[in-house]
Amino acid sequence: LPGRKVLIVYAHQEPKSLNGSLKSVAVEELSKQGCSVTVSDLYAMQFEPRATRNDIVGRLHNLEEFDYGVEVREAYKRGDLSSDLIEEQKKVQEADLLIFQFPLYWFSMPAIMKGWMDRVLVEGFAHQFPDCYSSGFLKNKLALFSFTTGGSQEMYTKGGISGDIRYLLWPMQHGIMHYCGVKVLAPHICFAPESVSEEERKEMLLAWAQRLKTLWKEKPIDCSPEWYFK
Ligand code: FAD
Ligand code: ZN
Repeated sequence: LPGRKVLIVYAHQEPKSLNGSLKSVAVEELSKQGCSVTVSDLYAMQFEPRATRNDIVGRLHNLEEFDYGVEVREAYKRGDLSSDLIEEQKKVQEADLLIFQFPLYWFSMPAIMKGWMDRVLVEGFAHQFPDCYSSGFLKNKLALFSFTTGGSQEMYTKGGISGDIRYLLWPMQHGIMHYCGVKVLAPHICFAPESVSEEERKEMLLAWAQRLKTLWKEKPIDCSPEWYFK
């Protein structure tokens, strides 16, 4: 939809990778629709994944004993978070849709993207207990996890050796995005791109472009335990 704002948080080292191509397809298709698209290319930005003292500018709230969660919460209130965090939070705040594009690393997102979650979704900005889940501060936003795997689709089934792919989406979709109030669209998964033909990879990219054409008509998933574990 024209005017909609999309933030793509992208984690791959190589622009020529399939993840790079999936990211480019999304930028192209969504721009064509009239959306304004911003990309946080985490490796290119050399995004800092570590949650440290450096995230707080100036004086600490408690000089005796360092507590990261408390310090960033207080720094957020004072406007004293480091500038890279303020910038990412601004992008999140403006976005209607967050797309996370990454290769699966150890049943999860790459560390650089996990670091983005750890550092950007600060208490007070994204949530503040009891304002979590349906009352998280990022409600009215959508998120979509788009990722590639090494393992095949049949490995990632309930009876398969790796278990249902939905099991590993629980921490990312429910534990992070839903916790912050974000509604979650169905994930987009390209299984084992390295093990298929060039032709099939082209089809994967086409399927992604195709899905994006009607994305704004999609309803969020029912992000409850049943979706993941039933
Ligand atoms: P690439 O190798 O970049 O892409 C495959 C091929 O697509 C390449 O030859 C590329 O040239 C080609 N390509 C790019 N663009 C196009 C295009 N436009 N048209 C046609 N072809 C194109 N996997 C799991 O399943 N579970 C795990 O837990 C897991 N943990 C991992 C942990 C680590 C530390 C690492 C390094 C890998 C892990 N993997 C795991 C594997 C990983 O998920 C896959 O290697 C990755 O998802 C593949 O995606 P890619 O974009 O890197 O593929
Ligand atoms: Zn949920």
